Amino acid sequence: MLSANMVALAYLAASILIIMALKGLSSPESARRGNTFGMLGMGIAALVTLQLDAVQNYAWIVVAVAVGGIIGGVAARKVPMTHMPQTVAFMHSLVGLAAVLIAVSALYDPQAYGIADADGGLHLASRIELFLGTFIGAITFTASLIAFGKLQALLSGRPLVFSGQHWLNLILGTAMIVAGILFCITQAWLPFLVMLAIALVLGVLLIVPIGGADMPVIVSMLNSYSGWAAAGIGFTLGNNMLIIAGALVGSSGAILSYIMCKAMNRSLINVLLGGFGGEAASGGAAQATGDRPVKAGAAEDAAFLIKNSRSVVIVPGYGLAVARAQHALKEMVDALLAQGVDVKFAIHPVAGRMPGHMNVLLAEADVPYDIVHEMDEINSEFSDTDVALVIGANDVTNPAAKSDPASPIYGMPILDVGKAEHVIVIKRSLAPGYAGLDNDLFYMDKTMMLFDDAKKACEAILQAL
Ligand code: NDP
Repeated sequence: MLSANMVALAYLAASILIIMALKGLSSPESARRGNTFGMLGMGIAALVTLQLDAVQNYAWIVVAVAVGGIIGGVAARKVPMTHMPQTVAFMHSLVGLAAVLIAVSALYDPQAYGIADADGGLHLASRIELFLGTFIGAITFTASLIAFGKLQALLSGRPLVFSGQHWLNLILGTAMIVAGILFCITQAWLPFLVMLAIALVLGVLLIVPIGGADMPVIVSMLNSYSGWAAAGIGFTLGNNMLIIAGALVGSSGAILSYIMCKAMNRSLINVLLGGFGGEAASGGAAQATGDRPVKAGAAEDAAFLIKNSRSVVIVPGYGLAVARAQHALKEMVDALLAQGVDVKFAIHPVAGRMPGHMNVLLAEADVPYDIVHEMDEINSEFSDTDVALVIGANDVTNPAAKSDPASPIYGMPILDVGKAEHVIVIKRSLAPGYAGLDNDLFYMDKTMMLFDDAKKACEAILQAL
């Protein structure tokens, strides 16, 4: 049994490791190291917590760890990279649910949590903590389940908007706070359960109006909520480690949401009030008109064009992940570099289906970091580029974001591929991307479409090179 000072010291060490993990995760180069720090920090936190006096029944814990560990281990191996966003959303829902369940059990038996006052009731501070932890946890739980359903295409990606929606949310939000205050005053079950039920409904109502194109921001917002829910419960349990880790997750998720909103030129309030991305449906709802002429070419034509270029900028998108084409692409890039072609990658902040999706894929294929550039760094270079090679990307290159004020993605910054001398787009058809919009880039004179699976196309180009 560790002394209280030793526990505090160990928690401090774990907290520092988790801060180092977040720092590491900010760049693909140091992300692996960051993950190791994170695992170490969580390992120390869990072991130290397990030896606390309050932990008495190890049998249940062993069963829970075994069941959760097996499900988590199998899921981690089975879930394809392209399903990571919905997996993350699902995991956030579990954090929310855990927060609610802990709050319910703490209210049921305050003594067991060491938060009872002399009469066996709860201190006012504990009631407030329970109120905050419960409603944030409940909203996180149902909102994350809906986000999971939308991303997994179990539910429509279309925003569900109805008149009076914001008023309904406002009334429910107010009722929830009133019930919460009543609970804080009376410590009675009824207002607690009313507050919980309203929070569960609010979680659903807050997410249904949000369209597909805003889902990345929402997933990172839910990440933030799950952190705050954990921090709230940390107060209930009197566990500093949980408060620190929860606050770190909460604030880093909020910062990431802000960065993503900036990248998409949207205000956070705008996203939260929903409605954007109306045509969006995972998998793309709208179809291209099909009656506009496009220039289509073969892998040999693409190989000829890029082999004879000085500079090529590659724009990867979600299709690269679907096709698992990153290794074939890396071989193609190596061949081009060997032939003296200047090859760079241009990464849009919301390319793919989760933050950093493209960076992770390219890192997995050992693409050198120094040729991978973020949108802001590289956008000005397209006008000096011979060939922009778009692989499985669509929305992030759509010029309508700049030229068509009526477009739902108007205002979102895009990669200026149209400024390159030639454009080659590799995708299987003229089908739209996530936002469900036709893309004028495909019909430009300088654009050659290579209709194929991204992996097969990269292999064929490599062959031709
Ligand atoms: P898009 O979804 O716009 O387009 C992807 C394209 O890939 C499709 O048009 C599809 O065309 C093509 N494709 C699919 N499978 C293959 C394949 N096997 N081989 C070749 N091509 C393929 O992707 P982008 O990356 O350009 O844009 C990301 C979009 O996703 C944005 O709208 C963003 O807001 C949204 N989003 C982003 C998230 C994030 O956090 N980054 C999370 C959720 C959504 P075809 O079927 O013709 O092959």
